[in-house]
Amino acid sequence: MDVIATTVDRTRLPVWAAAGLALVCGAILAFSGWTEWASRSSEMRNAEIDLGNLARSLTQHVEDTFELADSLMRGVVTALETDDGKPGAIARLQTILKSRKASLGRIRGVFAYDENGDWLATTEDVTLTNYNNSDRDYFAHHRISADRSLLIGRPVQSKSGGQWVITLSRRWNHADGRFGGVVLATVDVAYFAQFYRQFDVGQHGSISLLSRDGVVLADNSEPDPKKLGGPIVEAIPYHPASGALSFRRFGEKSERIGFYQHAQRYPFLILVTRTEADVLTAWKRDAIVRISVLMCLVALVIAIGIFLVKQLLQRQQLAAALAAKEENFRLLAEGSSDIVTRIELDECIGYVSPSTMRVLGWHPSQLLGKRALSGVNPQDRPQLQEMLDQIKKGMVDEARATYRMRRRDKSEIWVEATIRATRQPDGTLDGFVAVTRDVTQQKTLQGRLETLAIEDGLTGLANRRRFDERLLEEWGRAYREKTSLALLMIDIDHFKAFNDTYGHPAGDECLHTVAGILADEALRSSDLVARYGGEEFAILLPNTDATGCARLGERIRRALHGARIVHDHNPPGFVTASIGAAVCRPGFERSAGPASLIEAADRALYAAKDGGRDRMVMAGEVIDLPSSKAPATVPA
Ligand code: GH3
Ligand code: MG
Ligand code: MG
Repeated sequence: MDVIATTVDRTRLPVWAAAGLALVCGAILAFSGWTEWASRSSEMRNAEIDLGNLARSLTQHVEDTFELADSLMRGVVTALETDDGKPGAIARLQTILKSRKASLGRIRGVFAYDENGDWLATTEDVTLTNYNNSDRDYFAHHRISADRSLLIGRPVQSKSGGQWVITLSRRWNHADGRFGGVVLATVDVAYFAQFYRQFDVGQHGSISLLSRDGVVLADNSEPDPKKLGGPIVEAIPYHPASGALSFRRFGEKSERIGFYQHAQRYPFLILVTRTEADVLTAWKRDAIVRISVLMCLVALVIAIGIFLVKQLLQRQQLAAALAAKEENFRLLAEGSSDIVTRIELDECIGYVSPSTMRVLGWHPSQLLGKRALSGVNPQDRPQLQEMLDQIKKGMVDEARATYRMRRRDKSEIWVEATIRATRQPDGTLDGFVAVTRDVTQQKTLQGRLETLAIEDGLTGLANRRRFDERLLEEWGRAYREKTSLALLMIDIDHFKAFNDTYGHPAGDECLHTVAGILADEALRSSDLVARYGGEEFAILLPNTDATGCARLGERIRRALHGARIVHDHNPPGFVTASIGAAVCRPGFERSAGPASLIEAADRALYAAKDGGRDRMVMAGEVIDLPSSKAPATVPA
């Protein structure tokens, strides 16, 4: 179960890796999105706080301004009401107002009107009789209303100066309580506009001074007759006295955030707004840079991840292919009739296939860790050791050898092994693989074939082919070593008659017996006894002189006598042979060749036949032999 589970896990590894990668990238992006959102929110919050602070201080500023104006107005109202009807009172008031002109500061002017709207006194340097203000809204309001409190009116265009002004007015009464007129103080709209423009509320931000009814008294834009005193801007609540709000102005794409603050002492409020786009400009610019960098990093991580996942997949495929290959190799090794052996660098067996049981009689487990060459015949071991050494030195990568191995039952078999180097991916040798096969049968067969090729089937002697080969070899050797080479040609006498009398099988039997006699007489291991053809034999005698040669020929002749093989049609009554002998010294007979030796022996043989058979003739030499018959000579 564990094995299966591991396999399943491993095959899914790339999927898990890819999923993990996606998760990490997703988490990074989500986290970065969250921090960006948090930083945006904090930016907005800070903007709101700033707007609140600004609104509060501007409210204070307007209150102070109005306070100043109001205190002047109160003074004028008191003067008018106190001195009402007294001669010279108006002139005194005018003098006082004129004298205050220089200290008015932000107050544009102070005016006193009678119940008809005619000018009584003013801080302005104008001819009073020229003006009447009964048409003004505030004048109409005070005439009708008994309310003595301060009225903040809509901005109007000054009759004396022509500029836009905010009007602050109070009613004054005659001593009997009738409407006496109006005292007016004005503040330039431009003064506020200029003052408000000093504050940075962004390109589209606004600072507005509004009456409690929402009438625009002044704002940070250029005084605009269409807007000033115009329609109610927004519905600003009176409770609570201050607060944040967000809204969208008609025709604007961006949402606005704002803060309003109602004045405590006078009926006006300050509204400060900024567009979200303005507030977030810097944040947006930085966020784009940050997100771009992050995206690049994430893209890099994804690219690296994809590369690694691909590598992982590839490795898995390779590993699977390798495992399949190993399995195939194992099946091949274990199913093969050959022995597959893994030999480690220390020449010990690391693996051996089960066929070792059948071939050598050893169970694979009994051979593991044993020296690979331990079962090899000691005579063949050096050859194999040299092969391994050559592979180790890198002289060859593969070598083949045929050698003998001891089986478990102590019998010996011939094996053929192909040994091959195995290397690590970097090329260093890490051992050998040997494929060993039992070739005992082939080896036996081959030996038999080799024998067949050079042996005469009937007599077991060397055949003509073998004789010819050896003749050439020995000729060459004698030539080089300047030794003598002798040849005996032996032909059975009247053998045709033997066959005719006793039959062919008996003839064969006879040939076999004669061959045995010849083989027994040729004592030196270097002597070669061959069946030259039919009932003719040849004995090649390396390093033998004429004496030795003649002695052997005679010994053979006698041995045949001794054998007494019955042959009624041969004068002695038993099988005899005629022998032609020749000796040469190739090193001294430069023109001659192997054929000349055969010819000489042949001629001697014919001479022996001609001489009456059952004798030996030496080619070109007369040798005294203790024979009953006279030795013959033949010209060499
Ligand atoms: P000579 O004394 O002149 O040598 O007489 P010969 O009869 O031996 O001479 P010939 O060469 O005419 O006869 C050789 C005979 O040897 C002919 C053949 O029947 C016989 N012969 C040759 N090879 C074999 C063989 O393998 N087996 C048998 N049984 N006879 C063979
Ligand atoms: Mg013959
Ligand atoms: Mg013969």
